[in-house]
Amino acid sequence: MDKLVEKLRKEHDLSDDELRELIESGSYDAELFKAADEMRRETYGDAVYLRGLIEFTSYCRNNCLYCGLRAANKNAERYRLTEDEIMECCDEGYELGYRTFVLQGGEDPYFTDDKICGIVRRIKEKYPDCAVTLSIGERSRESYARYKEAGADRYLLRHETANAEHYARLHPTNMSRNERRRCLYDLRELGYQVGSGFMVGSPYQTTENLIEDLRFLQELRPDMIGIGPYITHKDTPFKDEKGGSLELSLRMLAILRLMFPYALLPSTTALGTIDPNGRELGLKAGGNVVMPNLSPVRVRKKYAIYDNKICTGEESAQCRGCLERRIESAGYRAVTDRGDVKRVRSQK
Ligand code: SAH
Repeated sequence: MDKLVEKLRKEHDLSDDELRELIESGSYDAELFKAADEMRRETYGDAVYLRGLIEFTSYCRNNCLYCGLRAANKNAERYRLTEDEIMECCDEGYELGYRTFVLQGGEDPYFTDDKICGIVRRIKEKYPDCAVTLSIGERSRESYARYKEAGADRYLLRHETANAEHYARLHPTNMSRNERRRCLYDLRELGYQVGSGFMVGSPYQTTENLIEDLRFLQELRPDMIGIGPYITHKDTPFKDEKGGSLELSLRMLAILRLMFPYALLPSTTALGTIDPNGRELGLKAGGNVVMPNLSPVRVRKKYAIYDNKICTGEESAQCRGCLERRIESAGYRAVTDRGDVKRVRSQK
């Protein structure tokens, strides 16, 4: 096996120069993916964890330059699910076997802390055996503490990019990398299982930025790391920018698997959007989570963070069947239990 890949596999780390070589050269990919697959099989076997995703609001107060849900996008169709509708999604998901519900949305002030806590409590009361994950953006430490108190188990908040200047080019001036980090550290300290991550191939991203992303993740040590290719949305300031590639996305996924053997790594919808076989390839490059959509079909097209998003037409049950077949065809096994991270904090 190549020296670089072998070193990454043994030491779970490389120097910046070595990482740069691995990231910029495609010649290691075959070995890299093979080593990543072996590592995931050592730590998680052939299990692929399913998380039911409920996109419960498309309203957003933010103006991230890459995202189709940005407040300034007047063409975006906005919707909110009612608490009862969210419960119906959970009911359907529970029937399909899901034991994790991920509530994701834009940063929608309509959903006050009281409302979020009410929803979390209601889900946990009805389904105490399920994990509830929130992914609702930046809020105060006090708010995060209240959601935890109400029963939320996990929180997904991608850091997007670890570099402050790059962050500033992707976001409006009222957002900052440091505030994003504050949120992530608060969440970790409050005892959440935390997911972070970044987009691959976002506008202005350099190899150095990607190395900084890896270094930041080594410092944060999140339980889950979600990455996917940046995909252009036609109604954003980045409408003429090109999207991230499949190759680089898979390469970063494999590097993450070798650096963080115990991390939960989703093979994302964005990966499946840029290539019909993208999610299967993501699993073979070290991914071990997929997040099937549980949102009502009538709203799915409206949660348009990027163009041509897949899985917007099927019912939840069809989505479940389709994904299970894809997971099996890639050589893995779909698992619906809670699938908590197999790691203690002292481990990498
Ligand atoms: N408002 C929540 C959820 C955002 S959507 C939050 O701030 O966390 C979840 C993720 O989708 C984002 O973190 C971002 O990394 C990704 N995303 C947004 N726009 C995208 C685009 N155009 N292409 C690819 N991924 C995108």
